[in-house]
Amino acid sequence: MSEQPVIWWVRRDLRLSDNPTLQKVLDAGGPVIPVFLCDEVLEGMGAAPKWRFGLGAVAFDKALREVGSRLIFRRGPAAKTLLALAEETEAGQVLWTRNYDPERREVDTDVKSALKDAGLQAESVAGHVLNEPWSVETGSGGFYKVYTPFWKAVRVRDFPEPISAPSKIPAPTSWPQSDDIDGWGLGDAMARGADVVRGHLCLGESAARGRLGAFIADGIGAYDKNRDRLDLDGTSGLSEPLAYGEIGIRTCWHAGARAMADGKPGAETFLKELIWRDFATHLVFHTPHITSGNWRPEWDAFPWNEDERLAEVRAWKRGRTGVRVVDAAMRELYVSGRMHNRTRMLVASYLTKHLMCHWKIGLNWFADCLVDWDPASNAMGWQWSAGSGPDATPYFRVFNAETQAEKFDPAETYRRRWLAEGQGDPGAEALSFFDAIPSSWGMAQGDGYPSQPIVSMSAGRDRALAAYKNRDF
Ligand code: FAD
Repeated sequence: MSEQPVIWWVRRDLRLSDNPTLQKVLDAGGPVIPVFLCDEVLEGMGAAPKWRFGLGAVAFDKALREVGSRLIFRRGPAAKTLLALAEETEAGQVLWTRNYDPERREVDTDVKSALKDAGLQAESVAGHVLNEPWSVETGSGGFYKVYTPFWKAVRVRDFPEPISAPSKIPAPTSWPQSDDIDGWGLGDAMARGADVVRGHLCLGESAARGRLGAFIADGIGAYDKNRDRLDLDGTSGLSEPLAYGEIGIRTCWHAGARAMADGKPGAETFLKELIWRDFATHLVFHTPHITSGNWRPEWDAFPWNEDERLAEVRAWKRGRTGVRVVDAAMRELYVSGRMHNRTRMLVASYLTKHLMCHWKIGLNWFADCLVDWDPASNAMGWQWSAGSGPDATPYFRVFNAETQAEKFDPAETYRRRWLAEGQGDPGAEALSFFDAIPSSWGMAQGDGYPSQPIVSMSAGRDRALAAYKNRDF
């Protein structure tokens, strides 16, 4: 065994099984120093994902200790901090799982050049998606802008089986100093919300594997029928652990593929959804501006409202628009850090079409509140909903949130579950919203519910269609 340590820079891959980077680290043969950084990327994250990432790192430290290792916590810009750690420990190489969004790619490039300039080996490894963005090409050698042909191109691929978790990770003779992660204040911006959201988390690798197992046993068979139902627990709930790499995407894929081979009817739809995640990553890699500006530049001239301080924006964020399914969903987001996919589309449509507000307002709010926040899926979801993105629903299709609610929440179960106002005897989850919100919002359970929507379904639709008509798309 080589005595020269190898640094494993742990990022969004907080797992022992199905981890190609960890496998490479172990193949290098030396003692392993896993490190988690509070770097420029983590510092810049929104309140909920930043806090949740820290909790994930603490849980992963515990898991590492069970196989003879541990996580070293260090704070500072990634390149400088990794270089200092490598010098201090006399490590010869640094490996990490690569990401594909512009912010993380920029940091990766800096890290690679700083380490290589210092004579160290630096390698990023695939492991976040099933298909690396450059590995899927159209017939003419370009990238895909539409989902269905992307799906057709990758569905027949043989993805490697997941690698098992190691039973032991070789430790260095002495461990380098580690920060106390509690001192980083990763949850500071969560304030009171943390106690409420914590009860809804799926935290750590074994919880994630448990959730996948339960979904394959009980949920996947009817996934195609139930996935849009707001009142049923019809989806996998895996986006949160996938966001931090607490479960590997190959593990999810192969579990779904086995269910399909077993004849479970919803399995293919589940596999298609996993590929939506790859597609979002494909897009963010090939068109990085998707996270920050209209994917279709012709939308730059559209008269979006961009003022965050507008009363309509405040009502949308706080679940006070008067459209019950929109408000219930915004409460679900604030209380659980998650939101059903169908209501993500409904609230995005209401904000960008009925309220004519810029999708960036919604994208930023989701980035602050979602525990499953993913820069690629969030950007694709918002631009898809607004109509400014690739593979968009026709921009002039304006969701009617009320008829959608009748269809997907027929007994009002979802609306009652999350929205307290207007109910005689609201349940605990609806009430917990008032425990989570900042007191400065000045909201109380006894507040009456808005007697009418701030913008009605028909008026909002007419206004949006008129605005589209006036544009030269
Ligand atoms: P399931 O229905 O069980 O699907 C299985 C997995 O497939 C998911 O865990 C996810 O990894 C993937 N998936 C499913 N739908 C999509 C999709 N439309 N786009 C990309 N991947 C998908 N997803 C995130 O993970 N993070 C985000 O920040 C995010 N922001 C969104 C914002 C908007 C406006 C919209 C419309 C969608 C967004 N999505 C985001 C996609 C989707 O809503 C969530 O992935 C899904 O609700 C997660 O629930 P689940 O794990 O139970 O999904």
